Amino acid sequence: MTEQRLPDPALVVLVGASGSGKSTWAEQRYRAAEVVSSDALRGVVGSGRHDLDASTEAFALLDQIVAGRVRRGLTTVVDTLGLDADRRRGYLDLGRRHGLPTVVVAFDVPPALCRQRNAVRDRPVPAPVLAQQLRTARSVVDALAGEGWDHVVVLTDDAPAPAAPEPAATPEPPTGFGVVLQVSRFPWGEDPAGWLREVALAADACGFAGIALMDHLIQIPQVGTAWEPIPEPWVTLGMLAGLDTRLRLGTLVTPVTFRPPGITAKAAATLDVLSGGRAFVGVGAGWWEREHAGFGLAFPPAKQRLDALEAGIETMRALWAAGTKAYDGEHVALPETTSYPRPVHDIPVVVGGGGERRTLRIAARLGDACNVRLTADDADLDHKVAVLRRHCAAVGRDPAEVEVTVLDLPVVGTDRDDTWERVERLRGRTAAATYARAHHAGTAAEHRERYARLAERGVGTVFAALPDLAGPDDVLRLGAAVQSV
Ligand code: GDP
Ligand code: MG
Repeated sequence: MTEQRLPDPALVVLVGASGSGKSTWAEQRYRAAEVVSSDALRGVVGSGRHDLDASTEAFALLDQIVAGRVRRGLTTVVDTLGLDADRRRGYLDLGRRHGLPTVVVAFDVPPALCRQRNAVRDRPVPAPVLAQQLRTARSVVDALAGEGWDHVVVLTDDAPAPAAPEPAATPEPPTGFGVVLQVSRFPWGEDPAGWLREVALAADACGFAGIALMDHLIQIPQVGTAWEPIPEPWVTLGMLAGLDTRLRLGTLVTPVTFRPPGITAKAAATLDVLSGGRAFVGVGAGWWEREHAGFGLAFPPAKQRLDALEAGIETMRALWAAGTKAYDGEHVALPETTSYPRPVHDIPVVVGGGGERRTLRIAARLGDACNVRLTADDADLDHKVAVLRRHCAAVGRDPAEVEVTVLDLPVVGTDRDDTWERVERLRGRTAAATYARAHHAGTAAEHRERYARLAERGVGTVFAALPDLAGPDDVLRLGAAVQSV
């Protein structure tokens, strides 16, 4: 049998005689709470795992637990003999009804091995009972392919077990792909500069391509409370530029409503010079009215903000270009473009936002990159990329010149248990399965594989923001996903 990755989340139904290795297999791959076992429930409702008098109640409990978990979209492994066709049919229907992939895993081990394992157990199953189970199991294995499961896995004793739900070998992403750490929360305690330094040095040490800072005047509710610190990004990036790293440094994103674009151009050029050509500017139209009102800034309607975004990028580019001559562009006219220091490299402009009619068109016309928020659904990204490509064609821009970047908010656990504990801590009122999907909750190895797949789909840079970033250790935890990606 070839190595195969099972879907996750999924409803996984085990099939096999006693001693065929079902519980062992499940325990090695899934969290204890994900495995619903008839033996264990006999022990809960009856005198012990082998209390057959408790079977009826144990199975009633089992069905209730399985139904509750599947309804919530949570991975559920049904650890019973699995030999009853009606019960299997019931699980299959349940999974389908709730849109959860259905998997059946059959343990087709040699009868002699089963008998041998059975014989050494504390309470062996009587020989005739086991013989009957083995006969039934054999015929069930043959029937599974016709039952309608999304995945049928048949494990024989000599076959390598499927690596589920651990990822398979990671393909090599193309060169040029990078992961930039977006820092959006600053739980820096009594030592802001020390915290920033440690976070940046950790990011550099484990192979992040850069650091991006959010630009907000008040911490946004999606990230934290309004009284948590959210530092001014250009000042902060200036401090990071002074550290001995190779990190690229920039905003993701600065709203064009905060500063006249010439002032942003000046800040970015200064950062570029001080960092030896590592600056980038992520820029967007701004969206949060409250921070504008609170700081006495105008917050015009969306159309005007998008006009300002378009004009702002033109202005920055004019002020970064060589020479001091007058600039007369499509939306901007400047009597001179005298601005020193000049940046030491072409500062990339990342246009933030997925607005299909205007923002993506502005990105196609003026951006070096276009940043869209990653969702749970791969099709969303493919759609935005297609729209961007269409805009590129319409404005006569080579699509290869506009890099696709994504904002990713990964939950990263050290193992499956740790991952789900984090989901449970972070999810607020969102259902755990929904939160886990939106944040691609998984181990670093799983994120690594996901990033490689994103690279294959044309993403050049992932901006990754940890929803539970507390310090350098968290950066290192995600760093395992970044190393040599
Ligand atoms: P179940 O009755 O199908 O749930 O089987 P278990 O998972 O409880 O396994 C029965 C016995 O076989 C236990 O003593 C396990 O330790 C042993 N066992 C299960 N899987 C393997 C395996 O892959 N290799 C070996 N050597 N022993 C196993
Ligand atoms: Mg078992």
